[in-house]
Amino acid sequence: MNISVNHLGFRPDDQAKHAVIWGSEPLTSFQVIDLTDMGYNEIGPNARPNTVCFRGELCWADYPWGRYAIADFSPLSKPGLYLITLDNRFNSVPFQIRSDVYSRTLRKPFEYIHLQRCGDAAANYHDRCHLDDARRRDTGEYVDTVGGWHDAGDLRKWVEHTLMLGIGLGRLETELEPAWRTFDLREGDIRAEIRWGNQYFLKMQAADGQVWHDVGGGVDGDNSDNHWTDNRIGTEDDRFINTSYSATIQWEFISFQAQVAGLFGQEDAYYARRCREAAEATFRFMADKTNATPKEFAWAVLALCELFDLTGDVTVRDRLEAEIAGLLSLQETDYRFEQQAVRGFFYADARKTDLFRSARDSGLPLIALCRAAEYAAGGSVLKKKLRRAIELYTRGYLMPLSRTNPFAMIPYGVYTATVPGETYRPLGGKLFYRFFVEVKGKCAFGVNSHLLSHAVGLQAAGTFLEDADLRVLARRQVEWVMGGNTEHSCLMSGEGINNPYPHSRFLGLIQGGIVNGIAGTEEDVPFLDLDTTMDWRTAEYWSPHVSFYLWYGSRECRGLRLDPLPY
Ligand SMILES: [Zn+2]
Repeated sequence: MNISVNHLGFRPDDQAKHAVIWGSEPLTSFQVIDLTDMGYNEIGPNARPNTVCFRGELCWADYPWGRYAIADFSPLSKPGLYLITLDNRFNSVPFQIRSDVYSRTLRKPFEYIHLQRCGDAAANYHDRCHLDDARRRDTGEYVDTVGGWHDAGDLRKWVEHTLMLGIGLGRLETELEPAWRTFDLREGDIRAEIRWGNQYFLKMQAADGQVWHDVGGGVDGDNSDNHWTDNRIGTEDDRFINTSYSATIQWEFISFQAQVAGLFGQEDAYYARRCREAAEATFRFMADKTNATPKEFAWAVLALCELFDLTGDVTVRDRLEAEIAGLLSLQETDYRFEQQAVRGFFYADARKTDLFRSARDSGLPLIALCRAAEYAAGGSVLKKKLRRAIELYTRGYLMPLSRTNPFAMIPYGVYTATVPGETYRPLGGKLFYRFFVEVKGKCAFGVNSHLLSHAVGLQAAGTFLEDADLRVLARRQVEWVMGGNTEHSCLMSGEGINNPYPHSRFLGLIQGGIVNGIAGTEEDVPFLDLDTTMDWRTAEYWSPHVSFYLWYGSRECRGLRLDPLPY
């Protein structure tokens, strides 16, 4: 029998404390044991019978993956260390009930980012590296682009993804201001880390305001630059700068610079002005550029909300309102495709023939709508429109999808067309869904960023709509990542058990790194590389997961004090 539960545990007041149970025996009840009682399976002279502190009934139901039961122990709220057992024959992973289950994890993803520093020595990992970054692939000119962070399980510096690390750190500092002074006594660890990463992003901004695409990203993303170098400029192993354009990168950059300018405004006015001017230069560069996808519109909305908060500039406000309208224009408010199961989803583009799906940014439209709702004035037409859009997407789309499985994980995507040889599950009418990314002809990524970005969006939506069910649904996505999944695998190194060995070919294990997560087969059943086959699709660390986790965790822990470290 299998008992799946969030390895981190639960807070005393959490609603819907659930474990998911499946297997061959039709058991009807479960028990919870308090491990601090010392009775449980204690061997030796102290042995005594187990004390069951909670009992409950199992509610079985059929799902596409088979028959599953939910074990609901929501009333259990006493702090402690527990496990769930089925008649003392099958046990869950032990888990905590305590108020700081999330806040106590946040230092680990922070240190993961610190160890991904490029250009600096990372203690116990590597000496100073890539001091010869880099030469332009288009002109051959050398441009100092030393610094930043390595992305993922390699040494490449994708701006789109490593900017996410900065954004996650920004959220952590804004929401919680941890009293961490291990690496920087004067300014604190988070601010020092933000400055470290940002030197690279500022160097990647061209004179016309455009932010370049990557350093070391290779040719069309190959691994030709994914190596250590001799740190000497002008030698054969120097890496390349790719100066190509991406709308998402420009908006992410504006969002981050505006955030940093706000954070440093008081204590370092010079630096804050430098970041603000960088954001404004890219904003001017974007004056004649248009967005086409929900991802681009969403990042534009987030960026312009930040920039308008900072500057109050009416040009920014006008552009912001246009981008909000653009995002809303891609949302479907009716039941279409001859079905009544879902509505409120986003289309991939203005042709409106397929739905928006993204392994990295699927939750971004919801995050952007909620951020825009903070911007919109109370009682305004815009605020009402945004409220309606958020209600439709969460209650009309995400909620029905989450009921397809006992884990309440949001399936990866809904489709208007299927591919032969792969499983697409009927949703109703002419719509189909898959729990995991399609495999044929695609890089079938694990779904952690899909889930974690939705967790951030649902958390914001739950707060805005004052809907506790949405906040629970947000948490359920995080629980999947933290071990409450079909593989009983905690997908962050250093937390929980059964972690995959990461596809991290240069640095190996890094505490706080989150891997891509569970992907699917052609048959759309879960797949995770727990056999060290170095399958990057499921087991590679990636910056966006860490960012979304910090973003979620920071918001979730608002008002909690993070412990200073004892050194
Ligand atoms: Zn490096």
